[in-house]
Amino acid sequence: MHRLRSAPDLLTANLICDLLRHAGIEAEVHNANAQGGVGEIPVSEAWPQIWIADPGRAAEAAVLVDEFERRPADSGPERMCAACNEMSPQGFEFCWHCGAEFPE
Ligand SMILES: [Zn+2]
Repeated sequence: MHRLRSAPDLLTANLICDLLRHAGIEAEVHNANAQGGVGEIPVSEAWPQIWIADPGRAAEAAVLVDEFERRPADSGPERMCAACNEMSPQGFEFCWHCGAEFPE
C-alpha cells in the first residue's frame, strides 16, 4: 500500500477514491474516523488518507487527483472560496481546500 495524500474531509476522500477506482487503480480511505484526535496531532495527520494498493501507479494517481482538483465536475459552475480562492465543485457545501462553509 502507498499513501497517496490526505483529504480535508471524508467526502473528498471518498470522491477521490471513486475517481481512482474508475481509472482501475485500487484505492481506499484510511484514517476515516481519526478526526476526533485533532489537538494532539497535526491537523493534516488527522485527515482522511487516500491509499493506493500499487505504489507503481502513484504518479498516475497523483495526476488524476490533480485533474480532479483543477476541473472537479462538469455538473455545473464551480464556486470560489472567499477564504482561500480555491474552486470547489457545484454541490459542495464546504470548500474542499480549507473547509470554509459557502453562503447559500
Ligand atoms: Zn477555501
